[in-house]
Amino acid sequence: MPTIIQRLYGGVVWRLTPQEKNIFLTFDDGPIPQVTPQVLDILDSYQIKATFFMVGDNIRKYPDLMQEVAKRGHAIGNHTFNHLKGIKTSNKEYFDSIKKTDLLIDQLHPKGQNRLHLLRPPYGKIKFSQKRVLEKSYNIILWDIITHDYDKNLSPQQVLEIVKKYSRNGSIVVFHDSLKAQGNMLQVLPKAIDFWHSEGYQIKPIEHIANC
Ligand SMILES: [Zn+2]
Repeated sequence: MPTIIQRLYGGVVWRLTPQEKNIFLTFDDGPIPQVTPQVLDILDSYQIKATFFMVGDNIRKYPDLMQEVAKRGHAIGNHTFNHLKGIKTSNKEYFDSIKKTDLLIDQLHPKGQNRLHLLRPPYGKIKFSQKRVLEKSYNIILWDIITHDYDKNLSPQQVLEIVKKYSRNGSIVVFHDSLKAQGNMLQVLPKAIDFWHSEGYQIKPIEHIANC
């Protein structure tokens, strides 16, 4: 069955399958040993697959952890090597940072270069000239819901309310497996999954849809 991808801004994806009750759960900024293994265990306990947009420098530091994420069946995407803001970075530096991360993932990923090439620009901010080049090689994945799990002024309950209020068919939801977000994220994640299940949503990795 062909996938209908909603493209609101050229080749950039904000939301998938608006006709189906799917949620695409994503985690940015890992992998780190303090947080990512706990996320993996929560996802396993629900038998859910998600998508992890990883920072290349974290993959360099924790290659086993990146492989563990892949081994447990989750999709992996590129989040640049040093979490660069595209609009503040020269195109050469930006492309190099993405390429460096890609080579690392290719070396470590069980599917090698045959994996799906997903890219999430940090902060969602890239120049048009960067997008035009990158969309030729990558599925550029932004989001429909940003949970603000990293915001220390928000309680877990408030983060959960954001999830509940904005979830809809095909939502791409951003959490962070980072030190800054873990306080909220680890508490909210199981409750968010329970909520989606109670509403009849299926939770899927982006790879699953893009490959079908
Ligand atoms: Zn990020």
